[in-house]
Amino acid sequence: MQTVGVIGAGQMGAGIAQVSAAAGYDVLLTDVSQARAEAGKAGIAKQLQRQVDKEKIDAATRDAILGRIAAVEGTGGMGGCDLIVEAATEREEIKRAIFADVGRVLKSDAILASNTSSIPITRLAQATPDPARFIGVHFFNPVPVMGLIEIIRGLATSDATVAAIEAYATTLGKQVVRANDAPGFIVNRVLMPFINEAVFALGEGVATIRDIDLGCQLGLNHPMGPLTLADFIGLDTCLEITRVLFEGTGDPKFRPAPLLVKYVEAGWYGRKTGRGFYDYSGSEPVPTR
Ligand code: NAD
Repeated sequence: MQTVGVIGAGQMGAGIAQVSAAAGYDVLLTDVSQARAEAGKAGIAKQLQRQVDKEKIDAATRDAILGRIAAVEGTGGMGGCDLIVEAATEREEIKRAIFADVGRVLKSDAILASNTSSIPITRLAQATPDPARFIGVHFFNPVPVMGLIEIIRGLATSDATVAAIEAYATTLGKQVVRANDAPGFIVNRVLMPFINEAVFALGEGVATIRDIDLGCQLGLNHPMGPLTLADFIGLDTCLEITRVLFEGTGDPKFRPAPLLVKYVEAGWYGRKTGRGFYDYSGSEPVPTR
């Protein structure tokens, strides 16, 4: 495997592009427009500069990593990729359209993977040219920092595809866990009800944002509270995953908290929009309730 295509240059796609390039792969990074792809690459440059400033990498390494990432327009140029990782917005119709599009150029032995947090891999595989070469490769946020990749095998995924993806994950220095193709896989199946319950508690006036977060952080010995984490992940992404859990299981325990729906309707998606449960316009995040 030498060339990796990444579709979606948001927080996850940019991170996947960065760690792939850092591991020596040539990367083609695309988004809805050339400008968005370039913005993704600019974000990577910023991340790498921070590492240079902290003396974790030198300037030559930064330049070499950036030199291996090309921001490109569309998927038309991805015919040479050995692996294409889709990391676009968590909406099934968007992903299906991407697979149909990229299916036109995917070479006959290349693997197509989705970074979906929750959409069934077996179902998504139906929109791809070859379900045997389709797999879930679920990175965690922020990708350069988090050491885990969940690998999700669809019903039709071949052993060779699983082996190739495990080898790729290992070259990135990540640990792998294997999940069956059930809604939310392992980590989000457990995490999203936790975040959703924190939002129910906030909406019902049980406590303030600060107290819910500090209570869970210190009381559970977590590195951060659930509302802070939700802002990191993106409230739109949290809502989409919760809806997939709700619809995929039919179990009312997964119903989205009304306040989470409201925040997403307001465009308050968390860090990426400057406001979620916290306001990020100042030097320090400020709770909004
Ligand atoms: P994001 O909003 O930061 O980025 C999504 C990007 O996809 C945007 O730049 C958007 O312009 C782009 N996009 C939308 N439609 C596209 C298209 N048709 N073609 C190309 N690009 C398109 O979201 P994100 O947090 O990076 O999430 C991306 C994926 O990763 C989702 O499937 C999400 O569930 C998954 N994921 C997210 C996290 C997390 O913590 N945020 C963790 C693991 C997996």
